[in-house]
Amino acid sequence: MQFDSLGLSPRLINALNEQGITDPTPIQTEAIPHALAGRDVMGLAQTGSGKTAAFGLPMLDALMKNGRKAEPKTPRALILAPTRELARQIHDTLATFAQGSHLKLALITGGVGFTPQIERMSRGVAILVATPGRLVDLLDRRSVDLSKTEFLVLDEADQMLDLGFIHSLRRIATLLPKARQTMLFSATMPKQMEEIAAAFLTDPVRVQVNPPGQAVAKIDQYIHFVAKAAKTDLLIELLDKHRDELAIVFGRTKHGSEKLARQLENAGYAVAAIHGNKSQGQRDRAIAAFREGEVRVLVATDVAARGIDIPSIRHVYNYDLPNVPENYVHRIGRTARAGANGTAIAFCAPDEMGELRDIEKAMKARIPVASGAPWEGVPESAARSGARPANKPRQGQGRPGANSSRRPAQAGGAASAGKPAGQKPRRSGPRGKPKAA
Ligand code: AMP
Repeated sequence: MQFDSLGLSPRLINALNEQGITDPTPIQTEAIPHALAGRDVMGLAQTGSGKTAAFGLPMLDALMKNGRKAEPKTPRALILAPTRELARQIHDTLATFAQGSHLKLALITGGVGFTPQIERMSRGVAILVATPGRLVDLLDRRSVDLSKTEFLVLDEADQMLDLGFIHSLRRIATLLPKARQTMLFSATMPKQMEEIAAAFLTDPVRVQVNPPGQAVAKIDQYIHFVAKAAKTDLLIELLDKHRDELAIVFGRTKHGSEKLARQLENAGYAVAAIHGNKSQGQRDRAIAAFREGEVRVLVATDVAARGIDIPSIRHVYNYDLPNVPENYVHRIGRTARAGANGTAIAFCAPDEMGELRDIEKAMKARIPVASGAPWEGVPESAARSGARPANKPRQGQGRPGANSSRRPAQAGGAASAGKPAGQKPRRSGPRGKPKAA
């Protein structure tokens, strides 16, 4: 399958070829013909599947064919993304596809001054990529007018289900013309999404490349059952095996991520951290340095890390498990981009068994165990003692890419992997209260 058989104009196909993109990905093959025919599209696809081009190319195709000049403040296309980083990435991707055309793009996100954005809009913009909160601010100041917007895209829509986002989206929806084409892309399809879809889409075609919530097959996933206080040592041991490769490490809190970054720095790694306490400038610089390979390890919280698209990320570490199961899918989607292979390694401390179960339920799959054994019936005091798995378990540990360590993480499945020192996994003692059975 080639792009021209999907109906895209030769000009766009040339722009793609110049970037070495010749064959459409499955989501592109499925979505582009419907989008070119003017249908609303609801796409279920992971990050890394090529979804930006799946919505961007047909939109650019239509905008290029109708050469209407962009009027001040009135974008012809609006793309909404949940985070600044994702918005920037979409903007940059579309800018490369639109190079040499009359189409002007703008990026409107929080964390930077209003004035340049207001001036940019007043000069006339065809395609506006925005985060919802800042867009609402500019709408309130009458610096953006959506009354002539013909195309709307909601990207990573499942990340926009928080109350703050929904409030902004409702506001934006009232300002858009009814006659428009809308595309919604999401990695997961929680129930609440149906409501958003019904509010924004008209008779949409549904396209799907992976069952909702399931991770991309190319990502090898492993889990280490490890006490909280032993996580950093284990992380360093695993990072040491791949010193030259880019790794992203997810922590749960800003403070914890910052502390971990300092520890890794002390261990000799080129590290940067991105989280909610960092300024936009610091976040941008950290990601740029990571992309360039000057920084090898990026420690991030969920809020700052969505949408990062750096093809050379080979390892994703879930140092802490996310408490929103869908975020696990988003996190591990930072690796195995654009058909590359990747490994996602998660650490599970005794008090994270509940999160692990929720993640496995959402993915409808077990994560293979690399070391340790599922924590059950661990006394709270032992759970916090920081004991490190004494096991030098089966081949899997430290070689997370090895197939031999693939094994379902079910009860009994990892018994041979050894027991964490000083603890009795999976055995409810008198004081042992199953944490999240
Ligand atoms: P996305 O899912 O849109 O974030 O895209 C993930 C990555 O895939 C980006 O780095 C794109 O440049 C790349 N990509 C998109 N479409 C294709 C394609 N048809 N062939 C190869 N790479 C692609």
